[in-house]
Amino acid sequence: MFGHLFTLDYEIHGNGEGSPYKLMVEPTDRMLTLFDKYGAKLTIMADVGEILKFKEHAERTGKDDFDYYKIEEQLIRAIKTGHDVQLHIHSSYFKSILENGAWKQNWEEYSLADLPYERVNEMISTCKKFLEDLLHGVDDNYNCIAFRAANWSMSPSQNIMKALIGNGLKIDTSVFKFGKRNDRVKFDYSNADSELLPWPIDDSDVCRRNEDGALIEVPIYCENRRVWTFLTPNRIFRVLQASQHKHAKHEEDPGYVSEQESKQSLPGKLYNFFMAKHAWKFDFNQCTGNQLIRGSKRIYDKYGHLGVKIPVVLIGHSKIFTGINERSLEPFLAFIAENHDKYCFSKFSDFDLQTFREKLTA
Ligand SMILES: [Zn+2]
Repeated sequence: MFGHLFTLDYEIHGNGEGSPYKLMVEPTDRMLTLFDKYGAKLTIMADVGEILKFKEHAERTGKDDFDYYKIEEQLIRAIKTGHDVQLHIHSSYFKSILENGAWKQNWEEYSLADLPYERVNEMISTCKKFLEDLLHGVDDNYNCIAFRAANWSMSPSQNIMKALIGNGLKIDTSVFKFGKRNDRVKFDYSNADSELLPWPIDDSDVCRRNEDGALIEVPIYCENRRVWTFLTPNRIFRVLQASQHKHAKHEEDPGYVSEQESKQSLPGKLYNFFMAKHAWKFDFNQCTGNQLIRGSKRIYDKYGHLGVKIPVVLIGHSKIFTGINERSLEPFLAFIAENHDKYCFSKFSDFDLQTFREKLTA
């Protein structure tokens, strides 16, 4: 059995620009309604770093310019209706400054993984407390147990891991095998233990398995593929749009181009683009529903015999959930709902994490 987890990074643009209503509340509202139609569960990965800024602004000025109260209401609705809310942190928001209507990022604190332990711990405990204070009143059993780092960057991972464990989190869900960045954040997940199966994390390296590790990595499902196997009109549109936009400088944005890549000559760029293999994440905002159906069938063919319930983590971003995307995703939700002998909609708390302490093999 495979439990699909739709994890949604819930945030405005990485440089602090954009309307929280348009980029978070409105698209997530449509998504929750769509998911309810199929009995699907959404896991909102709330960037509490920025949400706390919106809250502080509303409380200080008495003006809810960043729709903090709508965000609060939406997170409560999610829990009330059986969805989930877990933790995502963009650390550069904590000391960000409001300038001309946008949150000017503190670039010194951009990479959480590079901050001292005390600072990381302070951020994680503040954010976890915020979610639990807000959501305990709605569901007594609510716990903040899963974390995703901004820009997927868990490297070096020691400080983050120590703080997550100390604050009682059980799961990290930042790693996608084959992923690499060498820019403002740096990581190389080529040697990650698995592209699908969770593993207990070794303190020294998030990619490495250690049976005694306290934290379990539940990776974002990813395949290493040539680009033409996953190009779609929607994705090309996103890449073109992002390339004309300064938001593309942020690692999580569609069409992100590293500084190294942008320095290559045009033939070099084209050659690499078409010939190199790229990390194809199971992204429910960028892949078509049919691509996700085929991906789920490949997962079943490879891992279906294991006999344990396995999480399949998909990733999305509320800020790019368009109407086209909405229509394209629907057949995939229907596919999961119809094939309930093989697949189901899940939340992180649905899994027995002990199952993943021993190495499972495909
Ligand atoms: Zn993010």
